[in-house]
Amino acid sequence: MNIATRSAAPDTTGLDLEAFSRGLFIGGHWREGQGSRIAVVDPSTEAVIAHIANASVADAAAAVEAAAQAAAGWRATPPRKRSEILRRCFELMTERAAMLAKLISLENGKALRDARGEVAYAAEFFRWNAEEAVRISGEFGLAPAGANHIIVDYEPIGICVLITPWNFPAAMATRKIAPALAAGCTVVLKPATETPLTAFALAAIYQEAGVPDGVVNVVTTSTPGPVSSAMMADPRVRKLSFTGSTGVGRTLLAEASKSVLSCSMELGGNAPLVVFDDADLDTAIEGAMVAKMRNAGEACTAANRLYVQAGIYEKFVAALTKRMQGLAVGPGTDPATECGPMITAKAADKIDRLVADAVSRGAKVLCGGKKPSGTGFFYPPTVLTDVPSDAEMAHEEIFGPVAPLTRFETEDEVVRQANDTEYGLAAYIFTRDIGRGLRVSRRIEAGMIALNRGLVSDPAAPFGGVKQSGLGREGGSHGVLEFTEPKYVAVTL
Ligand code: NAP
Repeated sequence: MNIATRSAAPDTTGLDLEAFSRGLFIGGHWREGQGSRIAVVDPSTEAVIAHIANASVADAAAAVEAAAQAAAGWRATPPRKRSEILRRCFELMTERAAMLAKLISLENGKALRDARGEVAYAAEFFRWNAEEAVRISGEFGLAPAGANHIIVDYEPIGICVLITPWNFPAAMATRKIAPALAAGCTVVLKPATETPLTAFALAAIYQEAGVPDGVVNVVTTSTPGPVSSAMMADPRVRKLSFTGSTGVGRTLLAEASKSVLSCSMELGGNAPLVVFDDADLDTAIEGAMVAKMRNAGEACTAANRLYVQAGIYEKFVAALTKRMQGLAVGPGTDPATECGPMITAKAADKIDRLVADAVSRGAKVLCGGKKPSGTGFFYPPTVLTDVPSDAEMAHEEIFGPVAPLTRFETEDEVVRQANDTEYGLAAYIFTRDIGRGLRVSRRIEAGMIALNRGLVSDPAAPFGGVKQSGLGREGGSHGVLEFTEPKYVAVTL
């Protein structure tokens, strides 16, 4: 393992952390929450880097009220004008990309190069949805019986509560905010408590770009359950868009059922990565490194189980181990880092537990496999072979830099193994036989397939899962429609 020298002090050079922790962002103003402030920790150094405001139920109600006050004006804003404001958000994010990337690295721990990628991806949701805002067209046609015409109009769904995780602090927020605003909705965002500073930095950018006061509100809280329940119970709120774990997603679906809220759910994953004998080895290794190690494995789309066909297995294992061993582990903000720390000590401990469980069931450790002592929530890039199907990590998200490899013989066998999970978010297939690639793509139960590549996310494509990985899609032309309701008018001309 190649752990870079870790500095005990966080690198905050060039970041105005006070500006990003001014309070809750409600109705275009920064205000203190009613609870005691919450500490934000740099996972690379374990140092507290900021204290953020802590919203109570009353603060959350104020945020919904601000969104309600702004709703009529934003809904009536011409799509072209909304589009131009969204475009400006894209431009400002792009101009400030270096600062935003550093802030993400600091509070999340991810390597700077991953953070730069995230900022570009996150900003793109504004550019894409600026283009979608002016193309939300309705439908007009003659009813089959000929008695009347049918008009369908896509109206903004109403006030939206958006709840996001820590692993992509910018992109998970913009993937919801941009289409919601394009559709004409106002929102309250509750970002993850571990990574709130990026959400606040972006809120200031939206305001500068011309997003009117109250259209986007941001609240952080140490009591997400009561705060989100209170917001969802307000009859003016009509939409919950959540990205996070399947467990919390289930809880929120139950809560949302009380007021029959429209729900979009982007939940957990357990992506299989399948390498057939005829795959190009270099392409497969390159793809596996991206699918496994982007964000140090802390991605819902991360390859969680790697199935490699017997004929290419030994070569693949050797090449992957070499690449994983060579990764530079270190603080996120260090430009040399390729694998940053995990988000919390608890996350690193969970990975350690999953690796120990796999080893106790017969898996072999080729590199890594042991949590280092010292400062920061680090876990080394790890390769495991002969991971049995009853290992816990075959069924649970590892959410870390661990690649568990299993050998397979036949297509039928690997399809059965790939589908042996409650999740169905992403899958990766490597083969030079495009017929087989497309056939297996159809047989694998997942919302997204990457064929001969390690990256599937694209703002221009529908992102989302099947089974217990979620409901609905974000991105593409589908994303904006999640924030609309079709209104049907039967008309006799
Ligand atoms: P999480 O624990 O489910 O938290 C996600 C968000 O929900 C956070 O803002 C969290 O707030 C909030 N939350 C927690 N408990 C809540 C409750 N009872 N009521 C309302 N809100 C609540 O997930 P995470 O650990 O942040 O993120 C990792 C998970 O997200 C993984 O499972 C990953 O696969 C999934 N994910 C999915 C996608 C996708 O697109 N499908 C993308 C990224 C991540 P606090 O921070 O205050 O706890």
